[in-house]
Amino acid sequence: MIETSNTPQLSPELVERFAAIVGPRNAITDTDLLAPFMEEPRSLFRGEGRLVLRPGSVEEVSAILRLASETRTPIVPQGGNTGLVGGQSARSPGEVVLALSRLDKVREVDPVGRTMTLEAGVVLETAQQVADDAGLFFPLSLGSQGSCQIGGNLASNAGGTGVLAYGNARELCLGVEAVLASGEIFHGLRRLKKDNRGYDLRNLLVGSEGTLGVITAAVLKLFPKPAGREVAYVGLGSPRDALALLKTAEGRAGGALTAFELMPRIGMEFTLRHTQGARDPLASAYPWYVLIEISSNRSGEDARETLEAILGEALEAGTVQDAALAQSLEAAATFWKMREEMSWAQKPEGGSIKHDVAVPVARVPDFLEAADRAVLAAIPEARIVAFGHLGDGNIHYNISQPVGADTAAFLGRWKEINRIVHAIVADMDGTFSAEHGIGQLKRDELAVTKQGIEIELMRRLKRAFDPYDILNPGKLVQV
Ligand SMILES: Cc1cc2nc3c(=O)[nH]c(=O)nc-3n(C[C@H](O)[C@H](O)[C@H](O)COP(=O)(O)OP(=O)(O)OC[C@H]3O[C@@H](n4cnc5c(N)ncnc54)[C@H](O)[C@@H]3O)c2cc1C
Repeated sequence: MIETSNTPQLSPELVERFAAIVGPRNAITDTDLLAPFMEEPRSLFRGEGRLVLRPGSVEEVSAILRLASETRTPIVPQGGNTGLVGGQSARSPGEVVLALSRLDKVREVDPVGRTMTLEAGVVLETAQQVADDAGLFFPLSLGSQGSCQIGGNLASNAGGTGVLAYGNARELCLGVEAVLASGEIFHGLRRLKKDNRGYDLRNLLVGSEGTLGVITAAVLKLFPKPAGREVAYVGLGSPRDALALLKTAEGRAGGALTAFELMPRIGMEFTLRHTQGARDPLASAYPWYVLIEISSNRSGEDARETLEAILGEALEAGTVQDAALAQSLEAAATFWKMREEMSWAQKPEGGSIKHDVAVPVARVPDFLEAADRAVLAAIPEARIVAFGHLGDGNIHYNISQPVGADTAAFLGRWKEINRIVHAIVADMDGTFSAEHGIGQLKRDELAVTKQGIEIELMRRLKRAFDPYDILNPGKLVQV
């Protein structure tokens, strides 16, 4: 558990004024009802808030922020509460959690312009379904998609498994509506693919982790639904072989390569051990695995032929040792389950020190070799679960505690191990935060690793948007 700051509690009068905006049922103060808003997935940060507000309209969000500005009350926007860096956690009893889940309307689907306009509280899985119902496809896909929300996805500029072909959340967003710290509403729900009228406020708000404004709705890009999609689970000897397979796949499939996920054997074992319904798609065990997905706008046969050609070439070259092609939609879902459950499956194994790093794609094998050497020198029995989006150069380099080790003592080495791994990443011109953002967890590291001028400009922007520092204070950048 990471220490948080302590500021005074809210006065009962102020709680009443906030409650009057949303109505008593949507102003939560009861300890049991507060609990789900205060716990985050990794239990690294315990939220200290004593008030959660659940506005039901943009006007209510605006009124809340006007009052917060007037009374200098810190506001912590929260979506699905699945963030992994503590951005959505209230750091003190004086902070008010603004939960956006009641803003869950589908405002519009435009099948011709291929966009959908959704409110911030729409759950990602629902957004995917809305697109599907319109005969279209929304490609953002994360392990947390059953709970995370569009507002949170945009605020954290989420990545996931579809980035390789479709880009991250920022690239899927054409416009946003947001409430600023003053309570003013920025009406930016544009559906334009081209708009060169000066500074791009949408792109400042996307990825700002709730520090510049509260996103209340967004226009999202949709894509033609692939006519066919084929998935294979591949066993191979090393990340270098996986990189060779990626090159083959990109060469043969181009933009039809829609996922390329790397997984280690130990991650498979954790998933098999802790996930109901999980099964190994291959008959034998291999040191590494790749989940590869090909989509075709022509047909299923076209996708299958492309996938078979990729695997045939790789088997001949010796980069692949075995492969299973999903023979049904159900089998494809089982393959994906192995990848998606890998994040959760580490939890029952005890403490896990996490990294969300990216290096240039071609350097991933070098990174893994160097990081493994350095980490095992520091903690010889550590169990390294390095998995993720090889096609993006983004690896979740996670380290589970040695079997039988003391969890608290192991987690006490979090910063030391981060320093070791992040130094290797920096040497390779990489980033220590590829897709999960900064939040509380990485704020201090950002301050010392980013160029001075970048941090200073971020601070000036923060002051311009939020002069009283009421929006998610202490997250991302300290003013
Ligand atoms: C199992 C698992 C797998 C995951 N996989 C991925 C992955 O592959 N890729 C990835 O990028 N992330 C992943 N994540 C992290 C997380 O799910 C994403 O970052 C997600 O986008 C967060 O959405 P949320 O609605 O839960 O936001 P929250 O966790 O509630 O908030 C995240 C941040 O956004 C801010 N925020 C939330 N809503 C708003 C709003 N409406 N306006 C302004 N600010 C807001 C919060 O203040 C906070 O700073 C994973 C998490 C889990 C638990």
